[in-house]
Amino acid sequence: DPSIVWFRRDLRTGDHPALLAAAERSPSAVGLFVLDDVLLGPAGKPRVDFLYNCLRNLNDQLGGRLMVVRGKPVEVVPRVVAEFGAGSVHVSADMGPYGRERDAAVEAALEVDFVRTGSPYAVAPGRVRKADGEPYKVFTPFKRAWLDHGWRAPADTDASTVDWVDAGTGLPAGDSHGERDALLAWEDFRDRLDDYARDRDRPDLDGTSRMSAYLRWGCVHPRTLLADLGENHDVYRSELAWREFYADVLWHRPETARANYDKKFDRITHDNDTGLFDAWCQGKTGFPIVDAGMRQLLAEGWMHNRVRMIVASFLVKDLHLPWWWGARHFMRHLIDGDLASNQHGWQWTAGSGTDAAPYFRVFNPTSQGEKFDPNGDYVRRYVPELRDIPGKAVHKPSGVKGYPEPVVDHAQERQVALDRYAAIKG
Ligand code: FAD
Repeated sequence: DPSIVWFRRDLRTGDHPALLAAAERSPSAVGLFVLDDVLLGPAGKPRVDFLYNCLRNLNDQLGGRLMVVRGKPVEVVPRVVAEFGAGSVHVSADMGPYGRERDAAVEAALEVDFVRTGSPYAVAPGRVRKADGEPYKVFTPFKRAWLDHGWRAPADTDASTVDWVDAGTGLPAGDSHGERDALLAWEDFRDRLDDYARDRDRPDLDGTSRMSAYLRWGCVHPRTLLADLGENHDVYRSELAWREFYADVLWHRPETARANYDKKFDRITHDNDTGLFDAWCQGKTGFPIVDAGMRQLLAEGWMHNRVRMIVASFLVKDLHLPWWWGARHFMRHLIDGDLASNQHGWQWTAGSGTDAAPYFRVFNPTSQGEKFDPNGDYVRRYVPELRDIPGKAVHKPSGVKGYPEPVVDHAQERQVALDRYAAIKG
C-alpha cells in the first residue's frame, strides 16, 4: 500500500521528517496538495501566484507527480486514501488555529493512521515552557529557554528515494520557484549576513534575507537556516526566535488571532473612517514613507519590517483605526502573510500584545522616514509623484502636483492617541 504525503506548509523535499516517516512505512507514496477555499478565498493575487509557483517547483521535485485537488480536506483526503488503498497519511504538524481543527477533523474521518512528524518550527509551539509549566509571555526569557531547549539537526531527505505514484497533477502550467530558489537566495544572503545587524532597519538597502515567504510556505525549514548561523549572528537568530515565539503565543492563545492579547485594550476607543482607511490601503496618506510602504505591499506582496512598523503605527495611532483592519489587509496581500507573526506584529504595534511597546511611544512618520531612508531612495522607488524631489527632502513634500497633502496632523493625532491610552491605563 502506498502512503500519502499531504503537503501544506512544507512545500519542499529537503529536511522533511514527514517524508522520511512516509518512506519508512512504504516505498511508494502519493504526494498530495489540497487547494482549500477557506485559505485561498481571502488571498490576493501575489499570494496565490506565489503558492502556485511553489507547488510547481514541488511538482518538479516529485518528477511531475504532485496531485493537486481542489476541495475540502475533510472530504478530499479520505477519498484519495480510498482511491489508492493507502495505508497511512503523513503530514508536518500545522500549529495554527484553523490547521489544528482541520487536521483533527481529517484524522477523525480516516480509517488509517494520520501521522504528524515535525512542524514548521525549530521547536514546536507549546514545548518551551517556564519551570512551572506556564507559557512565556515575554520574548527575551522565551528566547533564552528556546536556545536552551535546542533542536535537531536538519534531516537528510531525498524525494528520489520514494516511488511517487502518478495520479495526474492537476496543476496549471506557469512559472516555478520554491525550494531551489529559497536555497539560492539564502546562499546569496549568507555573504551579507555579517552586515545584517547594521543594515536590517534600512528599507532603501537590500539588508534583510527575504526568507519570510519561503519560511511561510515551508520551501525551507528554519533549522536549515539556523544550522548556518555562527556565534556573531545572534541578531538574525533572534528574528527567527520571534517567529517561534509568536507561534507559541498563538498556540496557547488561539483567540488572539482576533482578540487583544491584553484585555485592557478592549476598552480603547477606535474611530471608523473608511475614507482614511482606503487612503492608507492605497498609499495616499500624504506621508511619504507610509505611502511607499503601502504601495510596495500592493505591488510586490512584501514590505520591509521597519516600514511595516511605521505603517501599522500610523493606522493605529494616527488614524485610530482597529489593528485588525490593518492586519486583515496585510494578510490578504503579503506573500509571507502568517497568522501568528502578522497578528502579533500588529498587536505589538497597537500595544495590546506581548512585550507591549510603551504606549507613549508613537512613531513620527516623517522623522522615521528621515532616519531609516536617509537619502529618500526608498520613497522615490515606490512613489513616482515624488521622484523629482532630491535627497531626504522627499520626506517633507509640500504642494506637489498629484500627491496628496497629509490626511491628518501628526502632532494632534499623537495627542489623541496618548489621551485614549491614558484613559485605559492601570
Ligand atoms: P529578515 O529580517 O531577514 O528576518 C529573518 C526571518 O526572521 C524572517 O523571514 C521571519 O521569518 C523572521 N522574522 C523577522 N522579524 C520578525 C518579527 N518581527 N516577527 C516574526 N518573525 C520575524 N512576518 C511574517 O513572516 N509574516 C507576516 O505576516 C508578518 N506580518 C507582520 C506585520 C507587522 C505589523 C509587523 C511589524 C511585522 C510583521 N512580520 C511578519 C515580521 C517581519 O516584518 C517580516 O518577517 C520580515 O519583514 C520579513 O522579511 P525578511 O525575511 O527579509 O526578514
